[in-house]
Amino acid sequence: MSNDLDKFKQEQGYKVQETVLSCHALHKHYSQGSTQINVLQNIDLKLSKGERLAIIGTSGSGKSTLLNMLGGLDQPSSGKVELLGNTFSDFNADKRARLRNAELGFVYQFHHLLPEFSAQENVAIPLLIAGKKFSYAQQCAADMLTLVGLKHRLQHKPSELSGGERQRVAIARSLICKPSCVLMDEPTGNLDRHTASTIQDLLLTLNQELETSFIIVTHDEHVAETMDRILLLEDGDLKKPTTQGQV
Ligand code: ADP
Ligand code: MG
Repeated sequence: MSNDLDKFKQEQGYKVQETVLSCHALHKHYSQGSTQINVLQNIDLKLSKGERLAIIGTSGSGKSTLLNMLGGLDQPSSGKVELLGNTFSDFNADKRARLRNAELGFVYQFHHLLPEFSAQENVAIPLLIAGKKFSYAQQCAADMLTLVGLKHRLQHKPSELSGGERQRVAIARSLICKPSCVLMDEPTGNLDRHTASTIQDLLLTLNQELETSFIIVTHDEHVAETMDRILLLEDGDLKKPTTQGQV
């Protein structure tokens, strides 16, 4: 598959480099009537290949807003975001969506799996969107579900899975196109400590096996501490956490 993706990148004229994801002078404000809410102010960030970054911060500090900008799901008020050297705002919506599909994965607090489809079908969907054949997508999905320890649950629908299993399916889906980076918004926030800990171990294993970079927004200090780097989002800016207990 990587050959296919490399060919796809060449055809699209995308650049490939060691910095996976970066943003420069990123601002985001929302207007509410006559008031302006400044959520992100002048954020600079660089994420390297294979790097694991945790972003922490209080509720409402702008963590989800930042992830949405970094994932090209929402537009910044000013500043730019680059994925593998490609500036999102230089692309039209269609090209942006294809780059995102090939190079980024997303995992949310609530799994967002499609309820009427099996685990295998849910995981296969990004490959089908990328234009791969059904039989190939189903095989890759089975392989990825095996990697996250769900070989015995391929035909189960989300309602027939436990919370931890659903999050594993969501992680398998986020990785199916072998993205350069996975953006995770509180992926263990809805799980008990033991299940969160197995998901955390799984993320570390996948990071090593697939060399995927991760940005993980988390309140879970155990998860944050296993990352390479922790940054605190506060007053619209990303900082190094200074005091204990901020994680
Ligand atoms: P976090 O994920 O850290 O809890 P969010 O990124 O969801 O925070 O939100 C940051 C701030 O931006 C909050 O004050 C929220 O109310 C505000 N906000 C988020 N989305 C919108 C929107 N679409 N319109 C107006 N305000 C928003
Ligand atoms: Mg949030």
